[in-house]
Amino acid sequence: MKKTTILGLLLVSFLGFSQQKTIDQRVEALLKQMTLEEKIGQLNQYTGNNQATGPITINPNKEAEIKGGLIGSMLNVIGTKYTRQYQELAMQSRLKIPLLFGQDVIHGYKTTFPIPLAEAASWDIEAIELGARIAAVEASASGIHWTFAPMVDISRDPRWGRVMEGAGEDTYLGSKIAFARVKGFQGNLGDVNSVMACVKHFVGYGAAVGGRDYNSVDMSDRMLWETYLPPFKAALDAGAATFMNSFNDLNGVPATGNKFLQRDILKGKWNFQGFVVSDWGSIGEMVNHGNVKDNKEAAQLAITAGSDMDMESNAYRYNLAQLVQEGKVDVALIDDAVKRILRKKFELGLFEDPYKYSNPKREAKELNNPLHRKIARDMAAKSIVLLKNEKQLLPLSKDVKKIAFIGPLVKEHKENMGFWAVELPELDYTKEVVSQWQGLQNKVGKNTQLLYAKGCEIEGNNRDGFAEAVAVANQADVVIVSIGERGNMSGEAKSRSNIHIPGVQEELVQALQATGKPVVVLINAGRPLVFNQTADTAQTILYTWWLGTEAGNAIADVLFGDYNPSGKLPMTFPREEGQLPIYYNHFNTGRPAPNETAFNYVSAYTDLKNSPKFAFGHGLSYTTFNYSDLKLSKNKIKDTETIEVSFQLTNGGKFAGNEVVQLYLRDKVGSVVRPIIELKDFQKVYLNTGETKTIQFTIDKEKLAFYNEKLEWNTEAGDFDLMIGTSSSDIRLKAGFELVK
Ligand code: BGC
Repeated sequence: MKKTTILGLLLVSFLGFSQQKTIDQRVEALLKQMTLEEKIGQLNQYTGNNQATGPITINPNKEAEIKGGLIGSMLNVIGTKYTRQYQELAMQSRLKIPLLFGQDVIHGYKTTFPIPLAEAASWDIEAIELGARIAAVEASASGIHWTFAPMVDISRDPRWGRVMEGAGEDTYLGSKIAFARVKGFQGNLGDVNSVMACVKHFVGYGAAVGGRDYNSVDMSDRMLWETYLPPFKAALDAGAATFMNSFNDLNGVPATGNKFLQRDILKGKWNFQGFVVSDWGSIGEMVNHGNVKDNKEAAQLAITAGSDMDMESNAYRYNLAQLVQEGKVDVALIDDAVKRILRKKFELGLFEDPYKYSNPKREAKELNNPLHRKIARDMAAKSIVLLKNEKQLLPLSKDVKKIAFIGPLVKEHKENMGFWAVELPELDYTKEVVSQWQGLQNKVGKNTQLLYAKGCEIEGNNRDGFAEAVAVANQADVVIVSIGERGNMSGEAKSRSNIHIPGVQEELVQALQATGKPVVVLINAGRPLVFNQTADTAQTILYTWWLGTEAGNAIADVLFGDYNPSGKLPMTFPREEGQLPIYYNHFNTGRPAPNETAFNYVSAYTDLKNSPKFAFGHGLSYTTFNYSDLKLSKNKIKDTETIEVSFQLTNGGKFAGNEVVQLYLRDKVGSVVRPIIELKDFQKVYLNTGETKTIQFTIDKEKLAFYNEKLEWNTEAGDFDLMIGTSSSDIRLKAGFELVK
């Protein structure tokens, strides 16, 4: 290395260090000037009201509180105009501490990307990071400093409506995605086009009993460490600035008042330097949980347990000062929370310029940046999963003369955005969101005629529209039918005990199939749904989730083969709700069912198969991929060594495309029971027709270790199965190796 480079590096690290020191010193200096009331003010977060249309009105009480330095952060205040208006109030406070503006920017800001579960189906880590980056560029241009995302909760139960907001059931995939999303949102934190990430919900929220939102969570320490915590750790390793705790109790202790989670694990063992915000009202909700008797006790417990900021409970605002005076809360706890929050405000550069993110010119430019829509369209196409394509009905030829496009979702605009899309005031969704109908119109040439019928509603049992739909189908060469949930049927507080496709939509599919015309089924949903009749009888099914602003165009891209589908399910699709929770990486039992028909005294239902309808990792392509020639560099290693795995992947079909190759392991004998199969790596590989590529993976200690009975993360000697597949249930190559000590 050249001398000048070394000097340069030294200088950069010195500057970095001294800047960090300066921030800490500035935080300390500011803290010294603050009254107890002002300190507590920094810990308060309240909601604004400009999610509604029309001009914003600032509640006079809030105005006084901001001017009094009694509010540290606002959520639901968006747009440069309104954020500036609020910030101007904060600049009238004694110490002029800027407000932080937080917002649920979950899957895009103005340009809505696919719901997070759909993006997870892309298994495309770079694309997911890019999606988060675009969201950050737009949100930050609109005055926002902080997104309440990513949600990294693992969930194995699609009754839980919030599965739409996560990355699905798998810890490995979920951790990769968590890391990517944090990187994408945060970019170089402090740059004007970045927002702070907030990793949520710490922890266990996705394991709510019965899939009912906000419900209790009871789980073993091993499951916590092995399955639920790793995505949070990955997000932390990516530099996540903030965490959000959770509504649920974990083993009897509400997460918000859980010292073990927040102080011992997050701020202790993991040395998290950012701050923790409560979930909406979750401090006060501990009164309902029943582990505290009132808001005052709730505030005491929450601050002691490590919740730094109170979102909307008012528990800190009205109780902390008294708790300090009574000697029940050490002011050092409050100081620590305040310092964590102030540090972020300094790091974002808000003390240098509180209006840094409120630049209307940048807002106008970034919110109408055509590149963002192009990227959203690409992400949407990548998120679609081809579940079935029996007679290679897809892709459709662009020469089809007449297409009947049928179903209650075909002409919808806003539905395509799904839950948790940011609703900007005064946005015309019929112009903003490309409907599925428009997508098809944009795609086909003038020689193709499009016919439409609604067929039925999403819910209810009215079949009056069937006759017209069938008549329209009879005139067409190909029928496409678009069914599913409504966009807001999956999301927060949208748990369902029945996750079958609602209403008579599956009957509509049957009626259309009875015409004898080729029928393509599109299923729109925010979760895995149950649709056995359609799954068993339809030739072709595309699972299109909710794809956002560019939904219609992306669906058309896939229908006509301009994008060869490559999505893979990030969750197991059950046959019936009675199987839930269901997940691919389960343990074996002492009485495994030898096949799907043996029910006697084995671990099985007497009325239902054990296997899922569609397996984790499943997803087809228009082409076929052939796997061959698996080689392991060694078949016996110590855990300080690695095995190089290689095999050949060939595109044996007529279309170029991407395959997500999945590497699974099974530790055959462990001191504690190990899953029958576990995802340990994957790659998304693009192959031209006829092309062959050598694919390589490395097996190292990280992939072999697990938590033993004493919760030590370690390896054990023994045999492993290595499986390479196109899904968790379609393993193409298999080999064994041994770990020796
Ligand atoms: C949700 C959070 C969200 C917050 C603010 C809560 O109800 O659980 O995920 O960030 O509201 O909107």
